[in-house]
Amino acid sequence: IISVSNLKKSYGELDVLKGISLDINKNDVVAIIGPSGSGKSTLLRSLIHLEEIDGGSIQINDEYLVEQGSYAKPQEIRQITSKMGMVFQHFDLFPHLTVSGNLEIAPKLAKKEPMDKIKARSEELLEKVGLTNWKNAYPANLSGGQKQRVAIARALMMEPEILLFDEPTSALDPELTGEVLEVMKNLAKEKMTMVVVTHEMGFALEVATKAIFMDNGEVVESGNAKALFEYPQFDRTKAFLKRSL
Ligand code: ATP
Ligand code: MG
Repeated sequence: IISVSNLKKSYGELDVLKGISLDINKNDVVAIIGPSGSGKSTLLRSLIHLEEIDGGSIQINDEYLVEQGSYAKPQEIRQITSKMGMVFQHFDLFPHLTVSGNLEIAPKLAKKEPMDKIKARSEELLEKVGLTNWKNAYPANLSGGQKQRVAIARALMMEPEILLFDEPTSALDPELTGEVLEVMKNLAKEKMTMVVVTHEMGFALEVATKAIFMDNGEVVESGNAKALFEYPQFDRTKAFLKRSL
């Protein structure tokens, strides 16, 4: 469902992604792990075109977002990236909108479906993330864990085929990470394709089908999550896991 080959990205002199290749299949839950600055966020942002890459190819569902450094037309880019939703570390909710308002704004603006259908889906998703009673609350009155659950429901409103998460629990107090991981586990059970940059090794080990270890702008090692955690092949992976587990 996602295929990346030889992806390169630099900020000026700094080569942040040095020829990344990876394949993600439908229903995979992929954990991307690696030290700070290794390029994990940049990779994720590149997949939904929040960053322009300098070389290589990205295919989503067999369609090229970018083929050997040249991007598809803007309309095609919009259509390809609309299959993906992203959840960020800092939630990025709209502070002036209620919880329901946050869920409904994007589909409303897309103007592709009647309001009652949008409302029905927002009710259903709030129930799924356990926030039905909070639908008229404003983000400022929610806990971090609740905010992040709103952000997940909001991403689901666009009915993505793939959900990308960039450290969804690292801004949360430890006692609030569980409720967010629980929602993510349920999505995994429903076979949502997910790519999760995470420092939560326990979650990665329990839920991920596949793990990718990045260091210094490269994929050092990737494969079955359990195998990678239990039998890392490379010294860099071993050293990182030793520090993190
Ligand atoms: P972390 O675990 O801390 O989130 P990361 O693996 O997500 O790290 P990235 O955020 O992708 O790493 O950053 C990779 C490198 O690119 C870092 O050296 C960072 O300083 C640099 N970088 C990221 N964004 C920019 C930018 N907009 N301009 C310049 N340099 C950047
Ligand atoms: Mg990051």
